[in-house]
Amino acid sequence: MSNESQQTVNRPLRLLLVHPNPRAQALFQILVARAETAYELSWCCDIDSARTALAMDWVDVLLLHNPLREERSVDLLKLTNTDGSAVPVVVLGRLLRSSGGRELIHKMGAADYLSILQLSLDAFEKAIHTARERHQQRTILHQISHHDIVTGAANRQMFVQRLQHALQMADAHQKRVVLLQLNLDGFQKVNDSLGHQLGDDILRETVQRLLLTLPSAEHLGRISDNQFGIMLADLDNREQVMPTLYQLQRLFNQPYLLPSGQISLGCSIGVSFFPDTAHNLDELLRQAGIAMHEAKRHPGVSHHMFEPGQDSKTSEAFSLEADFRRALRRNELRLYYQPRVDVRTEETVAAEGLIRWQHPTRGLLMPNEFIPMAERTGLIVPMGYWVIHQACQDANFLRHHRLPQIQLSINLSFRQFSDPMLTRTITRIFQTTQADPRNIEFELTESAMMKNEQQTTQCIKELTELGACFALDDFGTGYSSFAHLQRLPLTRLKIDKSFVKEATSCGDNEIIVRAMISLAHNLRMLVVAEGVETPEQLLFLRQYRCDQAQGFLFGRPQCFEDLCRMLEGQQYRHLSIG
Ligand code: C2E
Ligand code: CA
Ligand code: CA
Repeated sequence: MSNESQQTVNRPLRLLLVHPNPRAQALFQILVARAETAYELSWCCDIDSARTALAMDWVDVLLLHNPLREERSVDLLKLTNTDGSAVPVVVLGRLLRSSGGRELIHKMGAADYLSILQLSLDAFEKAIHTARERHQQRTILHQISHHDIVTGAANRQMFVQRLQHALQMADAHQKRVVLLQLNLDGFQKVNDSLGHQLGDDILRETVQRLLLTLPSAEHLGRISDNQFGIMLADLDNREQVMPTLYQLQRLFNQPYLLPSGQISLGCSIGVSFFPDTAHNLDELLRQAGIAMHEAKRHPGVSHHMFEPGQDSKTSEAFSLEADFRRALRRNELRLYYQPRVDVRTEETVAAEGLIRWQHPTRGLLMPNEFIPMAERTGLIVPMGYWVIHQACQDANFLRHHRLPQIQLSINLSFRQFSDPMLTRTITRIFQTTQADPRNIEFELTESAMMKNEQQTTQCIKELTELGACFALDDFGTGYSSFAHLQRLPLTRLKIDKSFVKEATSCGDNEIIVRAMISLAHNLRMLVVAEGVETPEQLLFLRQYRCDQAQGFLFGRPQCFEDLCRMLEGQQYRHLSIG
């Protein structure tokens, strides 16, 4: 039994007759008195009273005098059909089964029609019954086509329709509408790795949380897979959005409790204002999207309010993002290598993989031009896998061509550690490329470790067991937490180039670099100095027993073919010396 029939089961069915002639009421009273079903009939002679009764939610079925005769009746008929929530309407006409009657049913959404000229108890009861049944079917269809099946929230189409209505009302009453676009960060990954069932649970829980902050469900919509729209209408000033944002912050800072354990997801909220920043629906939606992307720069729960002038900056970022997605598919990425040498022999013993993007129109792009965008959008994850895959293939090339099997190192971004599939995917890449993990080294910064400590530690341990090793990159620029150094199976430490640069010119820095080297050695770590540009720097490093060095003095980042040629030359020198 549907909700609707449950509601009316213990009370008479309420009919509202809308007819200009009071005698029509008498006619229907007779039918109602003789009918088997219990009815309660009310009458009104004009459309305005009918609207009021509908608004008060009093009516179960509306009997409407032929609306083709009056324009406002047609409006009323349309009103009863918006939102799929309204009341079934039986249109009262003079002609039975005329084309006009069919048009009323099909085009304007009347649920049935009844000929006044051939009125009988049977026809009356049948019309009401049919109207209610048809209406119920339509409501279900409406529900399905306008709501998201998983969460029950309005879908994008419905939400946008309501938003449009809210804008019209705000325009008429000089009020504001605020749109919040909330993106569940990392949802896609959770969905892919933990399964859709749990993904659906997360979405439902999200809707429950959002509803706690809203006056009604009508303010909410699921506008894409992991995005929700929230509208706040009737605001007098922009500051009134703050309590809602604080509440969202509080709610979304709490982890989701799943049968398999807890999971924390960040969310990014973009906020746009009508009519302050946006003058129409399209602008409002677009600006909320732009602000949401801006909020994504910050991990955890964050929000950003759209500011005028942000459009042009962001549209460039958007096109870069779209280009980068294409770059991943079209093989436009290149992995360059910078040699790393043994400080004593100056022989190349390793090489750091550094990504470049061969952009079709903008030329060779450096990492600082696209990595921040890739991190913000999560594209760093597929990019990172491409890098690992490429480095593994290159390591194999060295082996198969009997070139020195130097270690190839790969930079890992903090964002990659939030991918729950990281270890599994890397393991699979090792298997499919048949690369020896001992030839691969990963570099990560202290801040990357701090952001996701537990998962990062776990990952490092698992990959170390496979034979790969880990280096702490840019040492000295982050937290420099020695606790980390002791706890984690990190076997290499790379001193940041800013220290190396100053090491030979200023007293303090010299002492710091010496201390770093001896600290790392005490922890049995191998020390690499980065950014070595001058012979003096190399001498200094040799003096204090730094193990390896990397920098323009020994070679700039170069393509793999050039690295191979360099290694070949080194091999040749060895042979001729030998
Ligand atoms: P990084 O990991 O610290 O890489 C070393 C950077 O220092 C490289 O810049 C390199 O070209 C530069 N460099 C090397 N020797 C010298 C020198 O003697 N003097 C000076 N002034 N600079 C030197 P690049 O290639 O522009 O990379 C910048 C950053 O981009 C890297 O810093 C790394 O954080 C990031 N990156 C590069 N490739 C990848 C990648 O595949 N994945 C990730 N997640 N990040 C990457
Ligand atoms: Ca690095
Ligand atoms: Ca570095």
